[in-house]
Amino acid sequence: MSNTAHPAPTIVWFRTDLRLADNPALAAAIARGGPVIPVFIWAPEEEAPWQPGRAWQWWLHQSLASLQAALHKLNLRLILRQGNKLAALRDLIRETQAQAIYWNRRYEPAIIERDKRIKLALRADGCEVESFNSHLLYEPWQVQTQTATPYKVFTPFWKACQAMAEPDAPLAPPTPKQCKAAAFAASAPDSLPLDALGLMPRIPWHTGMAAYWTPGEAGAQTRLTTFLNDAIRNYKDQRDFPSVDGTSRLSPYLCHGEISPRQVWHTIRRFISDSKQKLTPAAEKQCWAYLREIGWREFAYHILYHFPHTPGSPLQEKYQSFPWRNDPAQLRAWQRGQTGYPLIDAGMRQLWQIGWMHNRVRMVVASFLVKDLLISWQDGAAWFWDTLVDADLANNTLGWQWAGGCGADAAPYFRVFNPTLQSKKFDPDGKYIQQFIPELSNTDPRQRHAPWETPAPLLDHTGYPDPLVDHAKARNRALAAFDVVKSH
Ligand code: FAD
Repeated sequence: MSNTAHPAPTIVWFRTDLRLADNPALAAAIARGGPVIPVFIWAPEEEAPWQPGRAWQWWLHQSLASLQAALHKLNLRLILRQGNKLAALRDLIRETQAQAIYWNRRYEPAIIERDKRIKLALRADGCEVESFNSHLLYEPWQVQTQTATPYKVFTPFWKACQAMAEPDAPLAPPTPKQCKAAAFAASAPDSLPLDALGLMPRIPWHTGMAAYWTPGEAGAQTRLTTFLNDAIRNYKDQRDFPSVDGTSRLSPYLCHGEISPRQVWHTIRRFISDSKQKLTPAAEKQCWAYLREIGWREFAYHILYHFPHTPGSPLQEKYQSFPWRNDPAQLRAWQRGQTGYPLIDAGMRQLWQIGWMHNRVRMVVASFLVKDLLISWQDGAAWFWDTLVDADLANNTLGWQWAGGCGADAAPYFRVFNPTLQSKKFDPDGKYIQQFIPELSNTDPRQRHAPWETPAPLLDHTGYPDPLVDHAKARNRALAAFDVVKSH
């Protein structure tokens, strides 16, 4: 048994919290005294039916490499294992004589159940097990209506959050001095090499992502600083224009836990109150508009936690029997950015190239799939899941059910985005289209929104496809289909 002079080792099980700063599990393990053994276990089959997508895995590989390097500077070695997580943890406990294991909580329904089982089993083995919140500002069960039920509408949810105490301040990263006693002196447990996890694509389709992103904790901080310096003052005004770098692009970092929402929250709160920034009241409002988006992320987790069936089925039950079309050829055209609607295709190609898509365009492409093509939101969610570096079960489900008109705070069924008008409004100079659709880069910017209006000979040589559907007719078809459900 451990004694206070020489506590037995503590295992820190890293999951979607791949950072040193504001990591309560790591901080608690170091504070406990004695050696600390950081471990990451790869077992995608345990995430079923939402096994990590390929773009997400690419990011994970980079993120683990970055975490390994950061831990190494503290004299800590990240152990990598593969296979059944409970068995892997038990092996590690046996090999290291660890007596405690700490982790930060996750909220996906299958993972909650799995983690409960692991907690019970390890406690029954006599191990001290603790879990912490590091992924959210507030736990999903802390925010309740006056009748102790979960919220289904964002605005009152966010009002309730704001009436609660300010989120806890983030924890500082551990210092080398604090970690002196944490190095594991006994023969280090075996670790797989990172490459053995097989996270990197075999065919190099990831070069666009690699050129664009810098995964890891340092990359997250750089991104946040750039956003504060360059964009937050105009966030609300610019966030809908996809050719402008007007949003934080922190989503993949938040998703993998390379930065915590508390860090983001408090950095921005300090920024707002820092007199050196000389923020005008209007600029301050733009900062609050950004914090509200962090609130949407909280709301997404609230819904996922309280309505765990929503990744696969609509929150509003009447949509369960919606007559979706099964059209693999049109689904494929949408996935490949070959619908003939330039804004849609630019978005889908951006997704393919860098594993990320601008929020306004996510809304428009999702509406197009669900309403213009009448293909199910579940098909869309599955494609995003495989191709997004920020694939997040809570946010993706909320976004797709919003588009499908069947979720919490969803777009009304009769709101069908017109892809051409959206393009003219939010990409007026056609710059975003030009960036991702080389076939149209030499066309007149005013004609990029609706190339089918260009005289045929000019368009033919571009190789750009004709529109997959006529939007006006597709809209009527969608309204008729949604009308049937509405009357249920
Ligand atoms: P910013 O505008 O800088 O916002 C900051 C942060 O707030 C984001 O990083 C994100 O964590 C959060 N946020 C912003 N908007 C939303 C929102 N609508 N819902 C929930 N959280 C939000 N986001 C994901 O992180 N993962 C997904 O898998 C995902 N799938 C989506 C699918 C659809 C169909 C739609 C319409 C939206 C989806 N979103 C998803 C939400 C949103 O598009 C992204 O969070 C945002 O585009 C990320 O870019 P950003 O970091 O620059 O956002």
